[in-house]
Amino acid sequence: MKFSDAALDLLLGASCYGCGAPGATPCVACRELLVPTVQTVTQSLKVGVPVLTAMRYGSPVSTLIIAHKDRQAWQLCGVLGALLLAVLQALPPVDCLVPVPSTPQAERERGYDHTKALALWCGRRMRVPVRGLLSSGVGSDHAKLNANERMREVSGRFRAPPGHSQVILIDDVITTGATAAECVHTLRTAGYGVMGAGMIADAAL
Ligand SMILES: [Zn+2]
Repeated sequence: MKFSDAALDLLLGASCYGCGAPGATPCVACRELLVPTVQTVTQSLKVGVPVLTAMRYGSPVSTLIIAHKDRQAWQLCGVLGALLLAVLQALPPVDCLVPVPSTPQAERERGYDHTKALALWCGRRMRVPVRGLLSSGVGSDHAKLNANERMREVSGRFRAPPGHSQVILIDDVITTGATAAECVHTLRTAGYGVMGAGMIADAAL
């Protein structure tokens, strides 16, 4: 442990969000595991565009992503952003980056849109603007919806204003690809050219 890490630990009780070791986050050992190996994932077929990720979803990247999303560990934006940047550099140049939106409810609860923050971090370095073209409709306040309304919400969860830009879709993790597929469909229907999707980690089973 570096002296600065130890001092931080002593003062703040800080620990690594990746593995729990005392000191800076992520610790040196976790940082060494955060080397991007960009790959096109199997969900690409379902999504309808190439989906590239930096690594498989597993420790420590999984715990870092969760901490960034749900534990207000916003200082991890740069560490995770660097992984996403490696992915985006492997995709064709586009007019803008489009983050998958959080539901309004989730954003209210977190006070932070983690995916937009990652997109902005990368966009600044790539000199590509980030546009929140996708909005999620009524959100997932499922308790107030009847069965028919729920079906409709799942099949048309996102909206986008009409446009013709070339875009890349951004998210932190891909699991089944259902959300990404819906985002791509919404953007294409609105007239955009979706050149690919960039995610940090592939969590497909
Ligand atoms: Zn660690």
